Amino acid sequence: MDAMISKTIKALKENQFEAYYAENSLEALEIVKGLVKEGERVDRGGSLTIEQTGILRYITEGNFGYADPYKESDPVKKAELMQARLSCDTFFCSANAVITDGRLYNEDGACSRVAPLLFGPKQVIVVAGRNKLVNSEAEARKRMMTVAAPLNAKRLKTATPCTEDGVCHNCKHPNRICCSTVITNFNRIKGRIKVIIVNEDLGM
Ligand code: SF4
Repeated sequence: MDAMISKTIKALKENQFEAYYAENSLEALEIVKGLVKEGERVDRGGSLTIEQTGILRYITEGNFGYADPYKESDPVKKAELMQARLSCDTFFCSANAVITDGRLYNEDGACSRVAPLLFGPKQVIVVAGRNKLVNSEAEARKRMMTVAAPLNAKRLKTATPCTEDGVCHNCKHPNRICCSTVITNFNRIKGRIKVIIVNEDLGM
């Protein structure tokens, strides 16, 4: 295992996260299959990693209670589904960065991704590719502002200034996607947050 990954996994465990290593997406999916039970109500944040690893397909096609809020066109129903995710059994997401001292770094716009990470679902499974690993909080912030936010903004067609030049302008645009910074330093409820580090580049 790569030294940076093993350091991160050890540090995550010290911070009471349940941490797993996956050599690739297939292994990550197998780990996930062992962590969720059929019949559970599950949900996921808007994450490319969750799509790329096959997890989205697994929960969509499997025997789970899952209604995709991103496919709901009625804004009222969509908002209800977003609310309901706060009480689901298992919530899947990635992280904008995982710091090698065993902490998770996220920025969010509407906070429908970070809210269930913080509180609500019985279990949260965070899946992050090796490209998300950084050595410090400052690096995490830099990664967010120079890579993750501009690329995600472009993907989501937010029309924020970073979609034009790939540079953060600390904008006040109504579609700003980095409104709240959440750093998860320690997982107090043992076993609640699981983190799978995948030895592949995944997501943005
Ligand atoms: S603050 Fe605005 S310009 Fe900067 S990354 Fe976020 S959305 Fe883009």
